[in-house]
Amino acid sequence: MRFHVLTIFPNLLESPLREGIIRRALEGGKIEVALVNIRDFATDKHAMTDDRPFGGGEGMVMKPEPLAAAIRQTKLGLDGSHVVLLSPQGRQYNQAKAEELAGRRNLILICGRYEGVDERIRHNFVDEEISIGDYILTGGELAAMVIIDTVTRLLPGVLGCEESVAQDTFSRGGIKYPQYTRPRDFEGFEVPEVLLSGDHGKIDEWRFAAAVKMTMEKRPDLLAEMTFSKQELRVLKKHGVRLETK
Ligand code: SAM
Repeated sequence: MRFHVLTIFPNLLESPLREGIIRRALEGGKIEVALVNIRDFATDKHAMTDDRPFGGGEGMVMKPEPLAAAIRQTKLGLDGSHVVLLSPQGRQYNQAKAEELAGRRNLILICGRYEGVDERIRHNFVDEEISIGDYILTGGELAAMVIIDTVTRLLPGVLGCEESVAQDTFSRGGIKYPQYTRPRDFEGFEVPEVLLSGDHGKIDEWRFAAAVKMTMEKRPDLLAEMTFSKQELRVLKKHGVRLETK
């Protein structure tokens, strides 16, 4: 999987790519990340990538020519690509979208700056506009990094433990069960007894019921979308979880 990040601030992405799972994924050849400096495609002598908005108004807009040239150059020789514009106006990113993007071979991520990019880029060069949430960032680089991070951990062999991805919050629609590690007794607060029992059937049931209960408390909106088998409903009843959405 290759990510191509089009940005005027490539340095912003370098540090997050040098740590932890993402670094290992890069070193292990599971992903490649090409940082493409849009400024290299500017044609005027000051390498300008922005200009004043037609019609007046505040701020600057990213010029279309350097962006178009960067996209065209990036696409050269690629066997298919998906062009994403990071934008607060796009559809909101979620785990389902991360899973979908993980199936792509080449993701071209366009990072806007200033007041955003000239509309003709979105119209003619972009397959999809993605927002990472209803707030305004100063630029698309952090949003691009969110996509790289979330997609990479889904790729086969990256986490080394596929089961943990399947258990993640959102994977089944709800949130993940509560987790504990040593010590058994932390300042008088004990780990739930069942987790020490060694009985994996019981532990799985407890975790399932605890996850549903937590989803009910923290994210009732997610619970409303979840469905349960008869067996699961029996387990919930056994653990005193009464399904009700607020
Ligand atoms: N003036 C624009 C508007 O009101 O829609 C916001 C521009 S923002 C300051 C500059 C750039 O940051 C955007 O072009 C986009 O690439 C990125 N950005 C800001 N917020 C974002 C978000 N929530 N999700 C993804 N990208 C975002």
